[in-house]
Amino acid sequence: MSTRTVLVVNSGSSSIKYQLVDPDAGTAIASGLVERIGESSGNVKHTYGDQTVKRELPVPDHAVGMRIVLDLFEEVGPSIHTSNVVAVGHRVVQGGSVFDAPALIDDDVVEKIDALSPLAPLHNPAHITGIKVARQLLPDEPQVAVFDTAFFEKLPAEAATYAIDKKVAAAHQVRRYGAHGTSHQYVSQEVARYLDRPVGELNQIVLHLGNGASASAVKGGHAVDTSMGLTPLEGLVMGTRSGDIDPAVVFHLYRNAGMSIDDIDDLLNRRSGIKGLSGENDFRALHDMIAAGDADAALALDVYVHRLKKYVGAYYAILGRLDVLTFTAGVGENDDVVRARVCEGLEPLGIVLDPERNAGRGGPKVISADGSPVTVLVIPTNEELAIARQSLAVVEAR
Ligand code: ADP
Repeated sequence: MSTRTVLVVNSGSSSIKYQLVDPDAGTAIASGLVERIGESSGNVKHTYGDQTVKRELPVPDHAVGMRIVLDLFEEVGPSIHTSNVVAVGHRVVQGGSVFDAPALIDDDVVEKIDALSPLAPLHNPAHITGIKVARQLLPDEPQVAVFDTAFFEKLPAEAATYAIDKKVAAAHQVRRYGAHGTSHQYVSQEVARYLDRPVGELNQIVLHLGNGASASAVKGGHAVDTSMGLTPLEGLVMGTRSGDIDPAVVFHLYRNAGMSIDDIDDLLNRRSGIKGLSGENDFRALHDMIAAGDADAALALDVYVHRLKKYVGAYYAILGRLDVLTFTAGVGENDDVVRARVCEGLEPLGIVLDPERNAGRGGPKVISADGSPVTVLVIPTNEELAIARQSLAVVEAR
């Protein structure tokens, strides 16, 4: 097979997601996931062409999980050994102030990712496990770490800095790192390509609205602000995360509600956001509830949209001039109601939606009216392709 491929691996605390990508065609050749690693029974799913294989079996650890994945490639296809895999690209959530670009993995890079674990205690240790196993099982393929924070590593100091005692912040690496950077970078570049304009000319706001959600302000291809902070908890209202709250809520619950720090962590990360307000975190279900007259669901959507509008306004002010506003990820690409609600009333700011263009799912497409001073777009994100292309670039630059 002469087509070159990149194996993209996203190793989580109890899961491994993977995709074999053709970085030149921009297509996924095969994909799958291993879930519930370490539990009594795990789930495995592998898709190649029109074949999908699903299995339920114990997956005691990541090494076994990765071995199962490689066996499935041999059994169902395509064989990893004849797929011309030129790189294995690993998604890494936290690159701290250390990584502002993807890195070719060696022992030193592994150590540095490990050292950043206090900033991403659930993610970085899981990435390290995945990287170690992949290096063992695929020793001949170069491995690359692609960081979710890299696009925001060079945020202007005034956007990256929390206004807290600078000695405490420095001692504990407390700053705004952002997240979803691979998506914001990819989408902002795709915007330029779609509009056939140099990215360096464009002032953009990108709204990545998935289960996690984040906004970024991008000036000339460089991020100048983003809504996620030390962790992905800050910023927009999300599926299950609160986004911005008064930090004193934590003290209040700790002191007066008998909640431990772990309880509050769980509350704000997993029992808040749209789910906390309505009981559901999927927007399709949320709209059904609203249609059925559920007041909690209606308020959840109002709170979600209100926060988004605040960020659009804030980033507009920071950019000074806005050329493009882009919606991406599961909600951004598919939910025309959310898009319409966010843009409603922003006509005086030059954001004029065309209701017919906005209707329906998918993209890429322009959804602003002809003559709208700000172009509003839907651009599908593709983090796996972005990781594959960045990994390939690192390998080619060796
Ligand atoms: P993740 O953050 O897990 O990568 P995605 O970007 O895939 O998530 O977004 C998943 C979310 O997208 C779902 O939870 C759901 O709320 C939303 N979504 C998916 N399809 C639709 C749709 N047709 N209409 C509205 N929302 C949708």
